[in-house]
Amino acid sequence: MRKLVLCGKLFDAVDGSVRENMVIIVEQDRITEITPKAGLAIRPDDELIDLSRHFVMPGLIDAHVHLGMSGFPAIREPDEPAELVAAKALKNAKDNLLGGFTTVRDEGYFTIQGCQSIRDAINAGFATGPRIFTSGMVITQTAGHLEPRWTQERFGFQTLKPVNVANTPGEVVAAARHMLKMGADQIKIMVTGGVLSKGTNVGEQNMSDEEIQAAVSVGKMHDRVVSAHAHGTEGIKAAARAGVTVIEHCTTVDDEGIELMLKNKVALVPTFIVLKLIAEKGAAAGVSMDAVEKSAALVPMHLHNIKKAYDAGVRVIFGTDTGTPLGYHGKQHQEFVLMEQAGIAKTDILLAATRYAAELLGWQADIGTLEPGKYADIVALPGDPFESMEAMKQISFVMKGGQIHLQRA
Ligand SMILES: [Zn+2]
Repeated sequence: MRKLVLCGKLFDAVDGSVRENMVIIVEQDRITEITPKAGLAIRPDDELIDLSRHFVMPGLIDAHVHLGMSGFPAIREPDEPAELVAAKALKNAKDNLLGGFTTVRDEGYFTIQGCQSIRDAINAGFATGPRIFTSGMVITQTAGHLEPRWTQERFGFQTLKPVNVANTPGEVVAAARHMLKMGADQIKIMVTGGVLSKGTNVGEQNMSDEEIQAAVSVGKMHDRVVSAHAHGTEGIKAAARAGVTVIEHCTTVDDEGIELMLKNKVALVPTFIVLKLIAEKGAAAGVSMDAVEKSAALVPMHLHNIKKAYDAGVRVIFGTDTGTPLGYHGKQHQEFVLMEQAGIAKTDILLAATRYAAELLGWQADIGTLEPGKYADIVALPGDPFESMEAMKQISFVMKGGQIHLQRA
């Protein structure tokens, strides 16, 4: 039986255009045809899905979430049993799907195989959630971002769980290979300090050039994405010079960093929303003042710097850091508004959360656009994001792989 999705406006994310009165034909989990409504021969057993008053687009992709964290002001999950974290992560995954995010990239989980298990459970039909692209655990260094000693000081618990600690290129190679062996899709490295780690300076480079190169060498050998967390100017340059695939946050990138990113085709994921939420609402919610102050100092320059990189031609991909303090899964759509405030063109914002993100993951054969042959991952909203990005907050229809998960009248 065919499902016919009648689209008022259709943004297929192929060339950025919007077409009216088109029909997407879905058979089982894939799109088989997209055709004008006029002249379409409807069969008696066709199932009609009427989105003729909606803006229809590909399922959204959030390229930076943490399914193992639930947005609590003080991250508490590292001290919880892995089973409890996994149970919460399944709920978080489902919330992303219901928010229109049919695919998410997890940027670091608390156990080596936890996120892969969530991914595999969903893929096998034991749970409902988005397609998941995983990092396993992040790779950091002694005294680096989210290194256990700092985590312990900050949150007061004993743990050896949260991260891989690697202090030589050889240890980085070993950790990266181990993550891939354990089923991670990509390699995540912590190049500079971070907002949530007490005692680390967000600006300073913590991973050596040689260690970053070691991670990149493993990524190249196995054709995997290497994702680098970097706020500070020098760390961003080091990551770009080494040829990582993508830089997360990229907060204080300078002109030289932008040049290096262009030269080595390094993309960036801004995650504006996390810094803004912590800076503006963190103190009242009980986020540590250390993190609040760090975020407040970074917010003003962040939008400006990302705009500069975007204008120069660096590819900007949608990602939110959802799961970190005050970032609730399925509620991260303010990022679309912030990207617009930064000065990114509306078409590029929508492509950032669809085709560009799919291309980053290497999953462009299956997702990211609405075209025959792709998975039927489709979302719809009553408003038009080309009129206001606020419309992205009203996702009213979600289909993943031909299955409807949300349909509001
Ligand atoms: Zn993150």
